[in-house]
Amino acid sequence: MKVLVINCGSSSLKYQLIDSDSEQVLAKGLCERIGIDGRLTYQKAGGEKEVTDEAMPTHKEAIQLVLSALTNSKTGALEDLSGIDAVGHRIVHGGEKFSSSAIVTDDMIKEVEECSSLAPLHNPANLIGIRACQELMPGVPMVGVFDTAFHQTMPKKAYLYGLPRDYYTKQGIRKYGFHGTSHSFVSKETAKFLGLDLNHSKIIVAHLGNGASICAVKDGKSVDTSMGMTPLSGLVMGTRSGDIDPSIVQFISRNEGLDVDGVMDVLNKKSGVFGLSDGLSSDFRDLESAAGEGNEAAAEALDVFAYRVASIIGEYIAVLDGVDAIAFTAGIGENDGLVRANVMNYFHYMGIEIDPEKNQLRGENVKISTDDSKVAVCVIPTNEELMICRETVALVK
Ligand code: AMP
Repeated sequence: MKVLVINCGSSSLKYQLIDSDSEQVLAKGLCERIGIDGRLTYQKAGGEKEVTDEAMPTHKEAIQLVLSALTNSKTGALEDLSGIDAVGHRIVHGGEKFSSSAIVTDDMIKEVEECSSLAPLHNPANLIGIRACQELMPGVPMVGVFDTAFHQTMPKKAYLYGLPRDYYTKQGIRKYGFHGTSHSFVSKETAKFLGLDLNHSKIIVAHLGNGASICAVKDGKSVDTSMGMTPLSGLVMGTRSGDIDPSIVQFISRNEGLDVDGVMDVLNKKSGVFGLSDGLSSDFRDLESAAGEGNEAAAEALDVFAYRVASIIGEYIAVLDGVDAIAFTAGIGENDGLVRANVMNYFHYMGIEIDPEKNQLRGENVKISTDDSKVAVCVIPTNEELMICRETVALVK
């Protein structure tokens, strides 16, 4: 089957056309600046990347341009649109309604709309993408794959906050967790790669990208994760604060003369390693080169990041009552050996040892722990698009 995977943001849209049998990407790209002016990036497998400025007043025009690029007589990956067998959509928030991926129907769309209050920036954009595809590709089966679904197996003791109970029962305030597609993919890949029985395994996945979260996976199921009701909590991230004392919101509001939205903006966009490094950068490559040149704020930002990752991994070793494997993934997790080494340094006490040479390898599944390390530590590149493709095929077939 050929599956078009769509990841729709408020002003951007990423896409991949995947052959589900070979799991090869046939074409991929990006629409940016939707509703502003519009830029389409398209790349056929083995071909050159093409970037064109094209008007995209709405997501509908953006998807129309993607479909034209995919069927272009010279550079297209398809002869015509009938070559697309199914569409898989990333949806950020499925609330408590979706514990797995779901076929797109009118009822399903209504339920996703009902979850929109939990992700007001993301779910409406995801739905716009779904509706645009329905209009342009009537009759093609579509599936929604939720970032939150994998974490619906968390027990109540992990997802309830210490708040008045009816905030949960009436408003749905609880931990949901995110990056579920990645945590699910990477935990499965880790088990396969190490020859573990997923159904009898204890795996911790550290998805460390610009947004970052950790997941404790027991017997293939998420039992806890570090993001919460929103993707702001848990780890210190690129620009997000992660967990802070909630009273700080009131304190900043008073001292800086900001309303709650203003404080939330600071916590989302001006904090994390970016804020800690005094606005130097949210990119770990910049922070590491600055720290190497003696920039103390950058060095401290890196220390805080690694400390927080290690603290949560330590917490999840207790939650899982032990651990068989720890997997690093996403931009930082896959590429930054220094971060991995700094994090794993906290676990010498339990006999975890990293092999410095293997820790330099990139771009593939690799075990970076030594042969006599008490726990296997791996780098497993994530592939959310492939996971969305697999989920789509599983439901459509
Ligand atoms: P993601 O959100 O998964 O795309 O990750 C993006 C982040 O990964 C960037 O902001 C960088 O901090 C980090 N990153 C990407 N490549 C490297 C690299 N080669 N070395 C260190 N960090 C990297």
